Amino acid sequence: MNEKEILNYIQSCLDCKTCLEVCDTYKVTEEEYKSPNGRLKIAEKIFNNQEINNEELLGIYTCTLCASCNLVCQQSIPIADIIHSSKIKIVEENKGPLENHKKIIKGIVEKDNSVGGNPDERLDWLLEKYKKEEIFEKKNSDTLLFFGCMSSFRVRESASAPYEILKLAGYNFKILENEPCCGEYIYSAGNVDIAKKIFKENIELFKKIGVKNLLVTCGGCLYAFDKVYRKYFKDYDLTVKHIIDIVYELEGEGKINLKPLNRTITYHDPCRLGRKYKNGPLFSEPRILLKKCGLKINELAVTPSEGPCCGAGSGIRGVDSSICIKIGKELFNKIETKVLISSCPLCVFNFRYVNYKNQTYKDSKYITDYILESMKK
Ligand code: SF4
Ligand code: SF4
Repeated sequence: MNEKEILNYIQSCLDCKTCLEVCDTYKVTEEEYKSPNGRLKIAEKIFNNQEINNEELLGIYTCTLCASCNLVCQQSIPIADIIHSSKIKIVEENKGPLENHKKIIKGIVEKDNSVGGNPDERLDWLLEKYKKEEIFEKKNSDTLLFFGCMSSFRVRESASAPYEILKLAGYNFKILENEPCCGEYIYSAGNVDIAKKIFKENIELFKKIGVKNLLVTCGGCLYAFDKVYRKYFKDYDLTVKHIIDIVYELEGEGKINLKPLNRTITYHDPCRLGRKYKNGPLFSEPRILLKKCGLKINELAVTPSEGPCCGAGSGIRGVDSSICIKIGKELFNKIETKVLISSCPLCVFNFRYVNYKNQTYKDSKYITDYILESMKK
C-alpha cells in the first residue's frame, strides 16, 4: 500500500463507528484515539505530513494490531495495516518508536531476544535425557524447530513439550544451539530497517545450515517467517508451519496416539494464527486435537475469527501494560473453566500476568501441554 492508497482508504471511512465495537483497546479505555476510527484520523494526519501530539502517538502505539477491526469495517479498510504503516512512517521521521521499544530493540540486537534473557540460558528447557544426544544444526534434517524468545525464556513448556512430542513421534528435525530472534517485535514497532537486517541474517543462517522447512511454536514467529519475510525477500521460499499443523498431520498418520483426559477447558485463538495467518486460519486443527485428548472445549466467541485478542500483541505491554491487564481481565470474566489454553506463548504469558495482577486463580496453558500429557497417558 502506498501513501496515496492509504489516504484513499482513510477518506472512504464513513465514521459509522462499527469498528469501535470490536476494538479491545477502545472498549477498556473508552478513549477514541485508542479506537480504529480514531487511529485512522491520526494516520490521516501522519500521511498528510501534519504534526501529531504525544496522545496521538500513544494512540498509534497502543494498537495490538489484532486486526479485529479489519473484519468488521463497513468500507473494507485494512485498518490494522494502515496503523502499522503509520508506525513505519513515524520511525522514518525519527519520532518513534517509544523509549521502551528502543530498550527492547537494543536487547534484541545485543542478546538476540526480546525479553532480556541471558543467551546462555536459552536452552535451559532442554530435558537432560535429550541434552547428550542433541547435535543441533549438524543434524541431517532440512526441518528446523524454531522456538522464539517467549517459548525459550518465558513459557518454557511451549519449547520442551513440542520438542518432546516430535521426538516421541519419531519426526526428523533439528534445533539451533544459538537461536536468534525472528525480528517480529522490531517490525511491529515500525523499525523496518533494523528488522530487515535481522530477517536477512536469519535467511542467510537458514540457507547455510540447509533449512527448507520451519516449524514454530509462537504466533509472532509464524507471522514474521510466513508473511513478513516473504514481503521483503522475494527469493525466500521456506515452508512455514505452526507446531499444531505438524502435530495434526502426525496424529492423522497414526504417529501420535492421544488418550482421553476428560476435562473442560476454554480455547483461545491467537490473532496471528487466525485473522492474521495467510495460510490459515488454524482454527479447526487445535480443536480437533484437543477433542481427541478428551477435552470438552468452551468457546470465547460465536466464531473463532471473532475471538478476542489476548491484549499483549505488537509491543503494547511496554507502552501501557494496564491496557493488557484490562483486556485480559475482560477475557477471564467471560470464561467458566479453570483453564484457558492458547497456541501462542505470548498469549499464555500475558494471561498469566493478568492472573497474577488480578489474583483470578485461573490457569493458562500452552496447547502442547495437554497433547503431551495425553500421549503419555
Ligand atoms: S488492530 Fe485491534 S487494537 Fe488495533 S485498532 Fe484494530 S481492533 Fe483496535
Ligand atoms: S467501520 Fe470502517 S467505515 Fe466505519 S468508522 Fe470504522 S473504519 Fe470507518
